[in-house]
Amino acid sequence: APAYNYGEALQKSLWFYEAQQSGDLPAWNRVSWRGDSGLNDGKDVGLDLTGGWYDAGDHVKFGLPMAYSATMLAWGAVEYRDAYSSSGQLTHLLNNLKFVNDYFIKAHPSANVLYGQVGNGGTDHAWWGPAEAMQMARPAYKIDASCGGSDLAGETAAAMAASSIVFRPTNAAYADTLLTHAKQLYSFADTVRKKYSDCITDAQGYYNSWSGYNDELVWGAIWLYRATNDASYLAKAEAGYDNLSNEPQSTTKSYKWTLAWDDKSYGAYVLLSKLTGKQRYLDDANRWLDWWTVGVNGSKVAYSPGGQAVLDRWGSLRYAANTAFAALVHSDAISDATRKARYHDFAVRQINYALGDNPRNSSYLIGFGANPPKNPHHRTAHGSWTDQITNPEQTRHTLYGALVGGPPDPNDAYSDKRDDYVMNEVATDYNAAFTGALARLQKEYGGTPAANFPPAETPDGPEIFVEAGVNASGTNFTEIKAIVRNQSAWPARVLSDGSFRYYFTLDGSTTLSQISVSSAYTQCKAPTLGSLGGGVHYVNIDCSGQVIAPAGQSQHRREVQFRISSAGTWDPANDWSYRNIPTTPGATPVRTPNITLYSGATKIWGEPP
Ligand code: BGC
Ligand code: CA
Ligand code: CA
Repeated sequence: APAYNYGEALQKSLWFYEAQQSGDLPAWNRVSWRGDSGLNDGKDVGLDLTGGWYDAGDHVKFGLPMAYSATMLAWGAVEYRDAYSSSGQLTHLLNNLKFVNDYFIKAHPSANVLYGQVGNGGTDHAWWGPAEAMQMARPAYKIDASCGGSDLAGETAAAMAASSIVFRPTNAAYADTLLTHAKQLYSFADTVRKKYSDCITDAQGYYNSWSGYNDELVWGAIWLYRATNDASYLAKAEAGYDNLSNEPQSTTKSYKWTLAWDDKSYGAYVLLSKLTGKQRYLDDANRWLDWWTVGVNGSKVAYSPGGQAVLDRWGSLRYAANTAFAALVHSDAISDATRKARYHDFAVRQINYALGDNPRNSSYLIGFGANPPKNPHHRTAHGSWTDQITNPEQTRHTLYGALVGGPPDPNDAYSDKRDDYVMNEVATDYNAAFTGALARLQKEYGGTPAANFPPAETPDGPEIFVEAGVNASGTNFTEIKAIVRNQSAWPARVLSDGSFRYYFTLDGSTTLSQISVSSAYTQCKAPTLGSLGGGVHYVNIDCSGQVIAPAGQSQHRREVQFRISSAGTWDPANDWSYRNIPTTPGATPVRTPNITLYSGATKIWGEPP
């Protein structure tokens, strides 16, 4: 039996991409606590840029890591498609890969225009709430012929070309569409040679193009070659190879880092070696993976006592997983038995570390294995309605299959803290190569997806409701303080056409014409009177036009104080909505089901008499 259930890990790792979906959610989205969001993306530039993936625990759609993640997911399926089908995950992979490619198609409205970011890093990160409740402006940023981005365009070309290979057997027309875009994007990348983050400057603080674009020019050409078999792309890849970075003061290709969203050189070593069989590429791939395993000239990646290869502090498990995936592909491609085993065993060790084979005996994959993280740095999964990372204390949703950053230092130490985005954020790029590695291990060791996945979540309490209490009272009046609260998270939703009703009866010979309602303080419209029939009347408070959203301390609530006065007699004690609320004047309002709340004509809370 496998040490870990790789089939289940693979299933969950793919599901995570559905939790990251932006825009109009497809019918096949399996995340019960997600709803539509970002529906105005692109409107500022006259385009439909809805869709795609939220990058990480935030809601920016960063183009470079999104494209890289798509390439890596596709690469996993190009190599190990059989594992996806035998484990029942091929449909899910295809669904998710098409979802992101549909977005790339929208983001590439003409040959030399590519939208590379939607959402501003500063304003997005400044707010802590669920995607469905976002209220900030989400500007769209592009590269074009005058302000280029060979890295972004080259990676997007790689993503679409790699994906075309995956779609070819089942949807040739779509594969062709992707290839058309990929070719145009590649020639845009090749012609307008610029760093995208010099153009989309907002990306500099998040996904700056540190390594530049030479690697994406090689990488994009490799994937176009694989997708088309057109030798001119292979020639471009090989010609560009010399431009890949070297170790300082040497002509040796860099080997002390790894494949990640910024630098694809390492992926190019492995793929050019596999595709051409040439010694130069093989040597570069071996040297790189030796540095990660046995060391090169006495230098080696740092290892924790518990066996984690730790390249860098931020998202250490992601670097290990990326390297593990490439190591598996390389191991499968080479014939040198020693190295084959060395790279394979390294990959198994690193993936197993993430799944629980570590000194903490804990999984780093949410919702999988032993003692997994519960408090990732993820806004929508947390589900705050007050724009606070500390409220509520418990994360409200299980973000199955998301790999957290992991120990920042090579000492196996980790704590499950929501505010720590270095060790406890999750990201589309963290899971991408990891998914491919899981597929490869499922193929070798087996493992089956969890049945009836995902288990249904139960809301932690009422989501949108009314609180009320007596604010003041007299012999012929009652003044109520009522608060509408929106703490929704299954999914989070905005109430913009709300209204609620407070029910009362007339007493003695008093008629409705003797009753008046006034309001000294209202965040909604002025209260009006209505009748249910059978002697029951109500105060109606119309909150339509107010955006009541789980988006902040004041944003999630609306308060209305209203006074019902009688020119005849008045007895509130027998009134439906008066029951079960505190009657001591000035008492704190409490949640009451005896006031009904509506969204338009639909009752969403409470019971009428
Ligand atoms: C965001 C994270 C992001 C970090 C660094 C935080 O405010 O919540 O998503 O990774 O900033 O940019
Ligand atoms: Ca690069
Ligand atoms: Ca009454």
